[in-house]
Amino acid sequence: MSGVVWIFGLPCAGKTTIGDALRDEFSRRSITALRLDGDQLRQGLCAGLGYSMEDRTENIRRAAHAARVAVTAGIPVIASLITPTQALRRMAGEIIGERFLPVFIDCPASECARRDVKGLYAKAKAGQLTALTGTDGAFERPEPGVLTLQTNEHTVAQCVEQVMGELVSREWLR
Ligand code: ADP
Repeated sequence: MSGVVWIFGLPCAGKTTIGDALRDEFSRRSITALRLDGDQLRQGLCAGLGYSMEDRTENIRRAAHAARVAVTAGIPVIASLITPTQALRRMAGEIIGERFLPVFIDCPASECARRDVKGLYAKAKAGQLTALTGTDGAFERPEPGVLTLQTNEHTVAQCVEQVMGELVSREWLR
């Protein structure tokens, strides 16, 4: 397996959960992947960046370059970042090249707000946070044809199975 699985979607849609579960499935097959997660990156490589479009662009640019370095060395990557716009996803794809697999984690905003694992939606509602994607921050759905996982309808295992199936059909994985 050598490719970049780029998981994107609203906060609380399930990006980290699916990314971690996919990494575990890779591990069971003795595949070691680089795991890049938005929240973790913001504590290190992307520390100091905020949520303006300029900073979000820089955040995605850095993550995409890190993914590119790994995949060029033959190391598979599982990245999970909100990546809210088509332009940001296009930029990531252009940096990474042909081994870029975007995966949309689709979950209704109302369900994301109900899950609210980090309390961000509650903060946004209370006016303590602005530009939260899915509330006052824009999120553009991808064009049809992008691999889409419905995390409010399918289990984590079923979603992982869907990605594994795509990797096999691309012959990135046997
Ligand atoms: P994100 O990384 O998109 O912000 P998280 O993965 O941190 O989201 O949180 C998603 C929450 O939704 C977790 O509490 C997870 O257990 C829950 N959840 C419920 N069903 C699913 C599913 N099918 N796939 C992924 N997450 C799910």
